[in-house]
Formats: sequence, C-alpha cells, structure tokens
Amino acid sequence: MLICEKKSEVREQVNAWRRQGLSIGFVPTMGYLHEGHKSLMEAARRENDRVVVSIFVNPMQFGPTEDLESYPRDFDRDSALCEGVGVDLIFHPQPEEMYPEGFCSYVDMNGLTGELCGKSRPTHFRGVQTVVLKFFNIVRPDRAYFGQKDAQQLSVIRRMALDLDLGIEIVGCPIVREEDGLAKSSRNTYLNEEEHQAALMLSRSLAEGKTLIEDGERDAGKIKSAIADIIAKEPLAKIDYVDVVDFENIVPVEKISGTVLVAIAVYIGKTRLIDNFIHKEI
Ligand code: AMP
Repeated sequence: MLICEKKSEVREQVNAWRRQGLSIGFVPTMGYLHEGHKSLMEAARRENDRVVVSIFVNPMQFGPTEDLESYPRDFDRDSALCEGVGVDLIFHPQPEEMYPEGFCSYVDMNGLTGELCGKSRPTHFRGVQTVVLKFFNIVRPDRAYFGQKDAQQLSVIRRMALDLDLGIEIVGCPIVREEDGLAKSSRNTYLNEEEHQAALMLSRSLAEGKTLIEDGERDAGKIKSAIADIIAKEPLAKIDYVDVVDFENIVPVEKISGTVLVAIAVYIGKTRLIDNFIHKEI
C-alpha cells in the first residue's frame, strides 16, 4: 500500500494504472476510520481493480465555531485499517498541499444545500464540494463511494457529478450502526457513557417514524412531530432539525411520496449528531 502526501505522487500512480487499463475506486474520508468507512472501502475493493482512500480533515468544510481543531486523528490506526481491507493507495495531504497560498476558487450549488445541514452549516457544502471535486481531479476515479449516513452530502455530490459532467459513478452505501443502533461516526468519540445512552434517542425516534410511515401515515408534519416528541424526552438532547425532504432535490415535502429522506440533527451536550432513513414508495 502506497502512502502519498503529494498530489503529484498520486497523479503519477493513477496515470500508470490508467495506462494499464485498470479501474479505480475512490473513498474520500476525514480519517479516524470505523466500520462505516470500512464498508465503503470494501464496496470499492469489490467493484474496482485499484482502491484509493483520501484521509484529510478538510478545513474548508468546518465553520468558524466548529470542531476542526479537536476533530479526532490517528493516522497509524487508519493506515492499518486500510491495509487490512486491501486499499492500494492512501492520499494524506497537508492543508497547504490542497489549499496553497492564493487559493480562491470554489464549487457552490444553487439548491440542495439550503435545507437540513446546509441551514445550520451555511458554508459546509461549499467546502465539501470544492474538496471532493479537487480529489476527483487528482484521483480521476471511475467510481466514488459515499455513505448514506451523510445523505444530503450524497445527493449534493450526485448532483455535482451530473451538472459538471464528471463521468464518475457515485455509489451510495448503507448506514453502519453500533449494535445498540447508534450510527457509527468519528464524532461518537466525543460522547461519554451517559451521552452515548442519550444519543440512542436518535435511532429510536427514527425507528418510530419509519413504523408510522410503514403503517400508512403520509403526513410529513405528523411524522416530524412524532420524532421530535421522542427526542424531546431526552434531557441531554437539543434538536437542530427534524425534517422530511425529497431525497433527490432536498426540498421539504408535506406528503410522503416518491423517495423521501427523513433526517435529523441533534446536539447531545456539545456534540452534533446526524442520522436518517430513506423511504421509497413502491
Ligand atoms: P467522514 O470521514 O465522516 O467525512 O466520512 C467519510 C465517508 O464515510 C462519507 O461518505 C460518510 O458518509 C461515510 N460514513 C461515515 N459514517 C458512516 C456510517 N456509519 N455508515 C456508512 N457510511 C459512513
């Protein structure tokens, strides 16, 4: 497994693979890897000749009061996990390599980013889109893998790939959870035991929302209230949003139809956690 800190090293290697006619799967991450990331890498491993993983805590996607400094990092553990999955190359740049002096170009979107996480994190998706497009240009993958855990991000990247004719297949992968239901996240490490127990309200409330829909409820307002009422019972929890949107366009819906994303963001103490489920009408 190669570990590259420079774009030029990555380019040289992927060009050599391309010349040999090999396909490339790419998994962008911020590191502190867990089973969720691993499932993306395993999918990439199954479906491509070569697998590239990026590990980069992208300063551009953090707001000024967010956790950029404290975001957990452990490169040695991450690279061992990648090696175990059979990753071929890790791209691990320093911020100066990605954003050299004078950097001033961005990718933005007029739609999809105004709701959910885009509301409470107004510059977040601009940072995500910009870094992902840069990675795509460096790695030039055939397929790129994203988790449904960040469902809005998945829709945003799919839209960007379509709008900008990237010719890269964007593959969405299911949410991986702890045994107790908590969606795996690098940020779970911020939670103490009491907060971890409190955080179980996220998946429990969503399970209730899912049951309501499966039992025939079609009023998005009622589903949102039912979810919010369950979370409100947990004293350590503070709701950022509970919403039901059309999955493709990330626009709020009043009635459940087509493919909807039921998404929540909740503060447990100082830690902001997200979770969701997708309902497809058949
Ligand atoms: P991050 O390192 O948090 O930026 O995440 C990198 C990629 O891993 C993103 O596409 C996430 O959606 C995905 N991911 C993170 N947690 C999970 C999870 N619990 N299940 C599935 N995918 C995940």
